[in-house]
Amino acid sequence: MTAPAHTRTSDELIRAEEPVLAHNYHPLPVVVARAEGAWVEDVEGRRYLDMLAGYSALNFGHRHPALIEAAHHQLDRLTLTSRAFHNDRLAEFAERLARLTGQDMVLPMNTGAEAVESGIKVARKWAYEVKGVPADRATIVVAADNFHGRTTTIVSFSTDETARSGFGPFTPGFRIVPYNDLAAMEAAVDETTAAVLIEPIQGEAGVIVPDDGYLAGVRELTRRAGCLFVADEIQSGLGRTGRTLAVEHEDVVPDVVLLGKALGGGIVPVSAVVGSREVLGVLRPGEHGSTFGGNPLAAAVGTAVVELLESGEFQRRAAELGAVLREGLTALLGAGVVGFRSRGLWAGVDVDPAIGTGREISERLMREGILVKDTHGSTIRLAPPLTVTEDELRSAIGSLEKALAS
Ligand SMILES: *Cc1c(COP(=O)(O)O)cnc(C)c1O
Repeated sequence: MTAPAHTRTSDELIRAEEPVLAHNYHPLPVVVARAEGAWVEDVEGRRYLDMLAGYSALNFGHRHPALIEAAHHQLDRLTLTSRAFHNDRLAEFAERLARLTGQDMVLPMNTGAEAVESGIKVARKWAYEVKGVPADRATIVVAADNFHGRTTTIVSFSTDETARSGFGPFTPGFRIVPYNDLAAMEAAVDETTAAVLIEPIQGEAGVIVPDDGYLAGVRELTRRAGCLFVADEIQSGLGRTGRTLAVEHEDVVPDVVLLGKALGGGIVPVSAVVGSREVLGVLRPGEHGSTFGGNPLAAAVGTAVVELLESGEFQRRAAELGAVLREGLTALLGAGVVGFRSRGLWAGVDVDPAIGTGREISERLMREGILVKDTHGSTIRLAPPLTVTEDELRSAIGSLEKALAS
């Protein structure tokens, strides 16, 4: 990789953002200019191992050759039609994504938040048209400490005050119960309930893996109660946990699965609601849509992503390297790590607060050439591209050990 001809240094670019860029993020002080595979390079040519992978948007690494080729090929033919017309890429994308996820139908959107919004809309419509809930009375049961995105409706059922405060009034119709608590969920579900909406593993909350049996329990409970199970797999899905979908660890098939992030191959935003015909079949022309949803470039990249996952190779890598990650983190217990949760190539690591905040550890790791992201308090999350090698992974764990000791 050769460094691009920048006229400004990283420090200058960071300072230049300050007056002109809304301060809705607090990035680590690294300015990435190039990337390939699991590695990124900053303006000055320093190299870092990307152990965040765009919160799973980069499951296949930066610029995976098959995905870049699919995008280039499509850029030269057709990029956007809007859904006013058909395009020649959408049928195959929907067919293969539905097959991959074991569902009937696909509603293509762009961002994760849009997929969540769309999931909420179809669940409500299903409740009125199929279940027979009285008009405007539908409820959706969600979990505390959830993360489903940033729109007004979605922050309406967040329990994170930073995400909510100042953005009311909020959308009604949501009931919040503790995560990993089937009894509380059971008590919240009634005849008005359209759906239960949860993350199979809570990512932003710190990679919270529920007890064995929880997802199967949610499936059983929702089936019995006659409401939908909507699984937000935007971060957990598409190979991250060692399976195509995280719900597969408990052999669960939800009624609706929300996908995003990795579906765009790290190139373009691509999200989708996939679900049964009974549910997605409630939508009729004009009732929902998106100008960019299902555009040919997105469909071409999305199809190439599905093709990578069809081989099972990435799921297998995530499972095998996940065991290496788990073993490495287990060895750090008591040596700066006070606890961790992991599944596949995804871990939330609680660092001894005496050593530093998650942010401080992340900055130390950055100086060691490893990029990670903190969550709350002294927790950092590790989610490398599924293309990471075993040596790279072991070296990242070594850097973590060093950062915790310094
Ligand atoms: C990232 C994420 C979203 C929101 O996706 P955006 O593309 O940022 O809108 C929703 N749900 C989960 C679980 C996520 O991780």
